[in-house]
Amino acid sequence: MNNLNDNDSLMKLEQSLLPRLAPVFSRIDGVSRSNTARVLDIFRRHQVSDYHFRGSTGYGYGDAGRDKLDAIWAEICGTEKALVRTHFVSGTHALATVLFGLLRPGDELLSVTGAPYDTMQTVIGHPKPTPGSLTEFGITYKELPMGKEGGVDYQGLAAALSSKTRVALIQRSRGYSLRKPLSIADISEVCCKIKELQPECICFVDNCYGEFVETLAPTAVGADIMAGSLIKNPGGGIAPCGGYVAGRTDLVEAAACRLTAPGIGSELGASLIDNRLLFQGLFLAPHVVAQALKGAVFAAGLFAELGYHTLPSYDEPRSDIIQAVELGSPEKMIAFCRGLQRHSPVDSHVTPEPSGMPGYADAVIMAAGAFIQGSSIELSADGPLRPPFIVYLQGGLTFEHAAIGITGALRDMLNS
Ligand SMILES: *Cc1c(COP(=O)(O)O)cnc(C)c1O
Repeated sequence: MNNLNDNDSLMKLEQSLLPRLAPVFSRIDGVSRSNTARVLDIFRRHQVSDYHFRGSTGYGYGDAGRDKLDAIWAEICGTEKALVRTHFVSGTHALATVLFGLLRPGDELLSVTGAPYDTMQTVIGHPKPTPGSLTEFGITYKELPMGKEGGVDYQGLAAALSSKTRVALIQRSRGYSLRKPLSIADISEVCCKIKELQPECICFVDNCYGEFVETLAPTAVGADIMAGSLIKNPGGGIAPCGGYVAGRTDLVEAAACRLTAPGIGSELGASLIDNRLLFQGLFLAPHVVAQALKGAVFAAGLFAELGYHTLPSYDEPRSDIIQAVELGSPEKMIAFCRGLQRHSPVDSHVTPEPSGMPGYADAVIMAAGAFIQGSSIELSADGPLRPPFIVYLQGGLTFEHAAIGITGALRDMLNS
């Protein structure tokens, strides 16, 4: 593959690649069809109507749309209760709300999937102390590194769990790391093992980037509770902000008491926005996730052709929408992200710069020319500037844009 930085050769490469991706795309379409059918069925059974789309004011007493959305989301997740709220500032906030809702001084939190996502390290207060963190509240924290094969270290798990372990944190997605995401089958296995060893331990899944990638949710296969962001997969690119928590009623209610106040829980909270955006986003989510997955598969195929290491490879099973590409130098990371930004529908004229971000230890570069600020179900690329200089690519509301953006950014990188 020489002279790839001209348009023609890249076009040819793309044309030769697409037929090879077809079987993978077809599997993705199958999952999307099945998830869409289930979401549709649940919308119909719950008799979603126009009046559910109205917002509410003040305390938000009797907000029928909010309650309906919670009920629908719980059923989609195969669980008892859900809290779908624009009052969650982000995924981190939803996850932190669960942790602060469930853990009490003297309890232990065990991360069974190695170091958690950067912003969760700040919430926990490990490895660096953070004001207001769980550690500051007298909650102890243990971390079980991933096993040698890339999965959960089951031997280590038996030794790490104790009667003090109130919550086991299971991160589904790779986050900003090269570990593998956990599949739904993996999550089921780890929850089963935890319950066998410590039946009282709560299995809590960080489900960010995993929604609708497979047909079942973690809470349908043994997780007690999970949380995620609405400006990732389940918002379908339409939800303007927010997050969700779903799981066992008592646990979700404990998180709700932390989001609002003890005694208020999930019963109050005005929907300040048009609820339609959350309903419609949820309805579109299986399809949009499929678009994003096809974009990720396309990127994996394209970069592999050029000799870059990609995780996963184009034909590997996926459990999140993240595509990691090892670019090997900060210059390439910056050039690729700038290229992706240039091929965005919003803020295409803006030049991303690496910089410090609240909750992140290293400088991060982010390309996101999104309709919703920071939305990573829209085509976006980011990563902390640290060796081996991996760019994490995700999202794409349409496969067409994902392909145009990725090819364009690659061309810019090769020309830089
Ligand atoms: C995105 C993400 C979060 C939360 O991030 P926010 O930007 O606060 O929504 C947490 N964990 C993982 C694995 C994530 O991918």
